[in-house]
Amino acid sequence: MAASIIDGKAFAVRLRGQLAEHVAQLKQEHGLVPGLAVVLVGEDPASQVYVRSKGKQTVECGMRSFEHRLPAEASEAELLAIVEKLNADPEVHGILVQLPLPSHMNADLVISAINPAKDVDGFHISNVGLLGTGQKAMVPCTPLGCLLMLRAHHGNLSGMEAVVVGRSNIVGKPMAQLLLGDSCTVTIAHSRTRDLPAVCRRADILVAAVGRPEMIPGDWVKPGATVIDVGINRIERDGKTVLVGDVHFDSAAAVAGAITPVPGGVGPMTIACLLANTVTAACRAQGLPEPEGLSA
Ligand code: NDP
Repeated sequence: MAASIIDGKAFAVRLRGQLAEHVAQLKQEHGLVPGLAVVLVGEDPASQVYVRSKGKQTVECGMRSFEHRLPAEASEAELLAIVEKLNADPEVHGILVQLPLPSHMNADLVISAINPAKDVDGFHISNVGLLGTGQKAMVPCTPLGCLLMLRAHHGNLSGMEAVVVGRSNIVGKPMAQLLLGDSCTVTIAHSRTRDLPAVCRRADILVAAVGRPEMIPGDWVKPGATVIDVGINRIERDGKTVLVGDVHFDSAAAVAGAITPVPGGVGPMTIACLLANTVTAACRAQGLPEPEGLSA
């Protein structure tokens, strides 16, 4: 294997340590305790695991964690009433409504009800607009985690050729905006892209956010490229359920310069960046200096 492994798990541990220090300082010097509220509707098992993990890590970093649960049959009005309450609560600096929502709820409407300054997921249209115009925004956690790892690995990304495969609002598009903000030459590829292998082979930085297990093989990867695999896919292999990315790890690692594994790459950074966004939101709300290097 030629590639070095970008260890997202270790990176996330360091980031959480840095955040815990910043939180302790905020508490001591300003009496400020950043607070994150997570709202979960329904009993989706994967969402329950994410919410538990978010709550636990929030508390471990010295922050306040608030959890609100609604049954799957709750009305949209009930959910909006909780969001309104959290918008007005001075102890809550970050609000996250766990997606997906039940089909009778309009996720766009619910997200637009969150105060953009507390929108730690970075999905509110105001934050999307701020990011798109290169202004200070709350940045979606998964692409922010990818950017922080890329910056740590390369230092300066300026002038690099970046290809993002996937154009979702949650990952692909904000990832492309962030890379553009760091002066990469960015291509966004998707299901209609012609000759995807050739497009991928141009990339110094290849980000895969597709949701198709091991779709990108090593011969689509430029020798020496940095590969960021956002995909999380559960597949059956040898009678077991295993997690794999959108990149075929072994063949890609044989040609890439560096690669994130799945699991243990982008995933752990996503929650760490949610905590970072909460600290950033708390500092912005109080006009205090933000933790350095943790925003776009
Ligand atoms: P979406 O399904 O919203 O978007 C997938 C994108 O991939 C679409 O833009 C689609 O193109 C494109 N695509 C699908 N098939 C192909 C193909 N054959 N060739 C090229 N492009 C294709 O997914 P998300 O962005 O939400 O998530 C992507 C992956 O990242 C998933 O595996 C998800 O589980 C994972 N994920 C991981 C996170 C983490 O914390 N690590 C967080 C969020 C997501 P088109 O628009 O043309 O349909």
